[in-house]
Amino acid sequence: MSKPPVVTCPTCGKEHVWDTNNRFRPFCSERCKLIDLGKWANEEYRVEQREQELPDSDHQA
Ligand SMILES: [Zn+2]
Repeated sequence: MSKPPVVTCPTCGKEHVWDTNNRFRPFCSERCKLIDLGKWANEEYRVEQREQELPDSDHQA
């Protein structure tokens, strides 16, 4: 069988194995997915926000 594909996380740029069990793909984690969503929702996104947990209550569309 071929090796599992490796993709680059759009948020942190980290390469990770494309895991069909990873419901956050193409992101490497839920955290990166939330960060990306926040980035598009808030154009004032800053790199340092990567180090912060995004509160669930921050989803006000
Ligand atoms: Zn990531």
